[in-house]
Amino acid sequence: MAESISSGGSIMVIAAHAGDAENMAAATVLKHTRAGHAATIVHMTLGEAGHPSMPPDVYAEQRKREAQESARLMGAQAIWLPYPDGRLPATDEVKFQVCDLIRREKPTLILTHWKGSIHRDHVATYEIVREAIFYAGLPALQRELPAHRVCGIYFSENWEDMDGWRADVYLDVTEIWDDYLKVLRSHELMRGGISTFRYYDYYEALGTLRGCLGGFQKAVALMVSPGAWVRKLEHLPGLEPALPA
Ligand SMILES: [Zn+2]
Repeated sequence: MAESISSGGSIMVIAAHAGDAENMAAATVLKHTRAGHAATIVHMTLGEAGHPSMPPDVYAEQRKREAQESARLMGAQAIWLPYPDGRLPATDEVKFQVCDLIRREKPTLILTHWKGSIHRDHVATYEIVREAIFYAGLPALQRELPAHRVCGIYFSENWEDMDGWRADVYLDVTEIWDDYLKVLRSHELMRGGISTFRYYDYYEALGTLRGCLGGFQKAVALMVSPGAWVRKLEHLPGLEPALPA
């Protein structure tokens, strides 16, 4: 586990399979760990069932090494939970386990999957995280550690989670972009040869696409929680009453 010098804030990424957190959030994590914030990566499963020829128990060991190396590159700590790839249960037991992790690590912000996904484990992670955040912040819920209220949740862009996802925030990640690509290359899945999906090409191009739309050289886009963009105003912008002279 790499040490991070916290300057106060911290990010937690909670993703379904080793590799998801990296492709959808490593650039955001790198930007903030370089600024002195702490980061924790939680892999709900290792994604060990995804190899076409390697047995899951053997591939799981490779995925642990890859997750550890990518965490080192991000300046983050990595945690993986003991759930099976493809069968992540969205039960109260799992939600309380994630609640306890949130209470222990006290993240300022959490990044996770959007629910409009083609993968059941991603949908399950969305549900687990939403409820774990609620449980973590509930003082009346007695657990070993006291309640911790998370300031915000963001849904990262992931090629499998695009049904109903929208880009609400563009974040400039130009300075750390090359290091983001190094994180991607630390996973065989991203380099190619395991899946027919061109992970590396997709996420490399996505940084440019989001950069073009966001007005930066390279950018990532994030979706905010539904309702978080609601503004409560006394007057519409530009039509405020004039200040007294
Ligand atoms: Zn996944």
